[in-house]
Amino acid sequence: MIDLNSDAQLKIFEELVQQRRLLYVHFAPPCGTASKARAIRLGLKNEPKPLRSMQYPMGLPHLKGLQKERVRLANRLYALTKRFLVELQKQGIGWSVENPSSSLMWLTDQFVEFMQTFGEVIYGVVFHTCMFGAARKKETALWTNIMELCQLSRSCTGDHPHAAWGLTPSGTFATADECAYNSTLCAHWAAAIEQYAIRRGLQPAPATLDNVGPDHLHLKDKVNRAILGALPRGSKMPPLLTDFLREEIVEIQRFPCLAQAKPGARLTDNTDFPKGSRLLHVWNDYGGLQNSGPSDVEEVHAPTHEGKTRLLAKVGMPVPPLDYLAMVTKLVHPDLQRVILHENLERAIEFSGPNKAVELRRRRILWTKSMVDLMAKTKTQEEAMVENRPLHLKSVLAGKKFGLMHAALESIAYPDAGVALEANSGFPLVGWMKQSGVFASNLRPPALHVDSFETMAASFSARTLASIKPSQDSDLDMQVWEATMAEVTGGTLEGPYNASDLPKGHVVSPRFGLRQGSKVRPIDNLSASGLNSTVGLPERLQVDTIDEVASMVKRCMQLHGKDCQLVGRTYDLRKAYRQLGVNEAHYKFAWIAVWSPVHASTRLFRMKRAAVWRHGLGSILFEDVKGLKRVGPVRPLAYLVVLFR
Ligand SMILES: [Zn+2]
Repeated sequence: MIDLNSDAQLKIFEELVQQRRLLYVHFAPPCGTASKARAIRLGLKNEPKPLRSMQYPMGLPHLKGLQKERVRLANRLYALTKRFLVELQKQGIGWSVENPSSSLMWLTDQFVEFMQTFGEVIYGVVFHTCMFGAARKKETALWTNIMELCQLSRSCTGDHPHAAWGLTPSGTFATADECAYNSTLCAHWAAAIEQYAIRRGLQPAPATLDNVGPDHLHLKDKVNRAILGALPRGSKMPPLLTDFLREEIVEIQRFPCLAQAKPGARLTDNTDFPKGSRLLHVWNDYGGLQNSGPSDVEEVHAPTHEGKTRLLAKVGMPVPPLDYLAMVTKLVHPDLQRVILHENLERAIEFSGPNKAVELRRRRILWTKSMVDLMAKTKTQEEAMVENRPLHLKSVLAGKKFGLMHAALESIAYPDAGVALEANSGFPLVGWMKQSGVFASNLRPPALHVDSFETMAASFSARTLASIKPSQDSDLDMQVWEATMAEVTGGTLEGPYNASDLPKGHVVSPRFGLRQGSKVRPIDNLSASGLNSTVGLPERLQVDTIDEVASMVKRCMQLHGKDCQLVGRTYDLRKAYRQLGVNEAHYKFAWIAVWSPVHASTRLFRMKRAAVWRHGLGSILFEDVKGLKRVGPVRPLAYLVVLFR
């Protein structure tokens, strides 16, 4: 949820729109100043008075002070909403905007202009909230470019009671009670958006465990855990068998139990459908399109509800018990199912089987040869890349062949081949991380925009500097200081500098020490300086765990029999993450402040290497590289290490 009144959030939203990371945006501008309810006289002393009228939808001319300001702010929000609607419409991103049908918002200059431009291609949807279980009858209108939302179009059938408007017994206005969207409405709304998403090419979640494949990044590891014999956690795991398998399309008006049921939810027990039935999907005649098509402001503002629409529902019903049992007997226990691996890993395991030793060796030799060829082919590019490295990374990245790595990744069509180019110029510290395509999508926008962060650089740095002081443990302080100076010697830190040396617009983060057993680990707190809150993540980073090793072992045993002998190796890349540089543009945010017991004051250092992992990188540059092979003399991973250093 984004508040467009906040300039900081507005910036984040603008960026989301530009980057086209959105499927659908819903706008719900406050209707307070545009409400028709303001025209209702209650006979109270301080009752709300109208601020707009049909004649003056942008605000009554005589308004003064607070009232004038409220209308001005609301108009500003309407203008922003219109600006984004135009942008989203041009980009082909789904949008909707909601207000009461009677709201004067629909008649403001911004909305009239928008309708004049796009009226031909958008839909107007009107519904009574009581049809979605609300206590009162309220007519709500939507403008949208999403056809599926027309399914929400519903007129009051008049066969249920309505609560009264005006003041509630607790002394609040009933209009306020009816402002939020209730859960039944939300369920129908979400179901419509789901259909829209599917129409736009998004894949629905697999219905059963059998349907999960290597491309289901959200699920495959969970399913593998189940295949490995671990109990699945959470409810996201698809079932072995769906609990209903018979579907029927019915007319809702004929079955009262369906009238206010939520899509996806189990029906309350009734005499029409067997126990355990679910409402799957609701739509009206013609998919709700009867309200669509060319419409002018007048029509949308004063919609008609004359012709009654037929509402249809798809209901899922449990199959008869004996049929169900027959299906159950055909299921395969997860324990015996095939581990889901990426096709490359699958092939690698296949070639480590018995009777494949010669073929495996042949392939390895071929691969090594192709890498040597690639190295020759990329020589010029490699030299240019080394030449173009930012100055502060020349020593950190010395000897690394990112050109070769890039070509090698491209040759296997790795989705994140660009990571090698990024490694060469350094990784970002702030802002949006790149989408790798290796991990499951999971959008997490930054809490703070980089521009706002830069504006506030001085105060963030001042806060860090104020927090640096000697701890109670002088031994700890000394060890942190020595570890820091060792990094300077090692070439990954620059310094020390005096606190007054920090250039304007640069940001410094605090470093402190943490005792772990007998060791002291220096920790750079990039959250304390606000740096981490500027980071936006497009995916959920996942580091391989013991489950991945177990999956490989199990797949090996599935393919080559339980007696196949395996040895495991792990390669620990020394100080792996310190070999990844910070890019030039963000180098000004790479300062850290440490207490120096030697100088009895604060000293600054500058990190040349990235303190945060690039999203997606973990899949290539393991800190611990794991490998499995059959008993024998070949050391496959040694090739990798030698080639890429
Ligand atoms: Zn009603």
